[in-house]
Amino acid sequence: MAQEFWQEEFETLGKNSLQKLQVERLNKTIEHACRSPFYSELYSKKNIKPGAIKDISQIEELPFTTKQDLREHFPYGFLSLPKKEIIRLHSSSGTTGNPTVIFHNRHDLKSWANLMARSLFCAGIRDTDVFQNICGYGLFTGGLGFQYGIETLGALSIPAGAGNSLRQIKLMRDYGTTAAHAIPSYLGRLYEVFEAEGLDPKKDTQLKTLVIGAEPHTDAQRKRIEEMYGVRAFNSFGLSEMNGPGVAFECTHQNGLHIWEDSYVVEIIDPETLQPVPDGEYGELVMTTLDREAMPLIRYRTRDITRIIPGECECGRTHRRIDRITGRSDDMFIIKGCNVFPMQIEGVLMKIPEVGSDYMITLETMNGADEMVVEVEVKSDWFRGDIKRLNSLSNTITRQIRDEVLAKPIVKLVEAGSIPKSEGKAIRVTDNRKNGLLN
Ligand code: ADP
Ligand code: ZN
Repeated sequence: MAQEFWQEEFETLGKNSLQKLQVERLNKTIEHACRSPFYSELYSKKNIKPGAIKDISQIEELPFTTKQDLREHFPYGFLSLPKKEIIRLHSSSGTTGNPTVIFHNRHDLKSWANLMARSLFCAGIRDTDVFQNICGYGLFTGGLGFQYGIETLGALSIPAGAGNSLRQIKLMRDYGTTAAHAIPSYLGRLYEVFEAEGLDPKKDTQLKTLVIGAEPHTDAQRKRIEEMYGVRAFNSFGLSEMNGPGVAFECTHQNGLHIWEDSYVVEIIDPETLQPVPDGEYGELVMTTLDREAMPLIRYRTRDITRIIPGECECGRTHRRIDRITGRSDDMFIIKGCNVFPMQIEGVLMKIPEVGSDYMITLETMNGADEMVVEVEVKSDWFRGDIKRLNSLSNTITRQIRDEVLAKPIVKLVEAGSIPKSEGKAIRVTDNRKNGLLN
């Protein structure tokens, strides 16, 4: 079958042409940025001028921008245009502190909608699809970000919003939803509601494609979602600082996320030394906007941990791929001297068939020692089973987590649905330790 693209002229650019475009756009971005209070002060101190970039590797000579910078210059210190030209703001959900705010002019919103449409197209979604966006509309970028993308693509959009599972199921069945977007932690819960209603999404809906993202999840979690719903599920990555969704997306080959290099410069650095790491190695993702006017960000440290997947993708898109995000550098916690990412634990749990859709990690000080308590929901039929089987399941989970993270957890099996749910993105870790660092 012939390859199909949303914008072939951009998506298949050869390396040299892509870099040439990046240099051009980076110089323009610096020019815009220099009109903002933050960058004009920083760049004049460092004597950085628009037009200074001749080769894209010179981006490494520019200073980083951090979340702290955004917070310190809240709310308007990064604006490169007069307020009169700004038509929308979004702010992050503030998972790790105060919100940060991003402003857009008309050009920015059009460019974002186009990237979002390109992303959906790349995952095989077409204008013939009926697309249900199960996501909060408002300051969170997943609502309007997808909305404008679906409309630009030309599919029929259902702006369902978040929550209210019975209504979501009704919408799907009434309108024959073929594609939907939701955070992965919600899809497990939604499935439980399907089951409770005596419905099977594989037979009782027309879903073919799910887009999952906005929070870290493992490949094992994705496979579960694909099996539960009888669909293919594609990973969608983005962050408010870089617009929101539509930054990097999986294509139908499902082997990493194409990160749109005509609109962003992508770097992976060692978060300690701040030096670039070679392709294939994990590090912190650093990104620069190339097509934003109201609020360009240059060398923004995302704190997300990923790597560049070496080699080319069979789909023909030349934009490089990042691997699924293993977590944020600040998600990591240390227990009994071992560095642990919550996703390592999820990776173990989601491969165990008896395990239900949710889990919770709590760090506690017990009798003077720090412990990692992992509560795990078990599928209902199993939970009501005999105690010997449950003990043996609990031992298996304990052993497998210890083998993965090297620290022995205290595993508690609980009934499906009993772990409290957060409103938006799942909160995986609570730190109640006396000297806990995560609070
Ligand atoms: P907040 O920073 O308050 O959570 P955002 O909505 O901007 O607000 O969230 C962006 C962050 O969400 C990313 O930096 C990343 O940590 C996480 N994220 C987004 N998409 C994915 C994904 N597909 N996989 C893993 N993490 C993701
Ligand atoms: Zn591809």
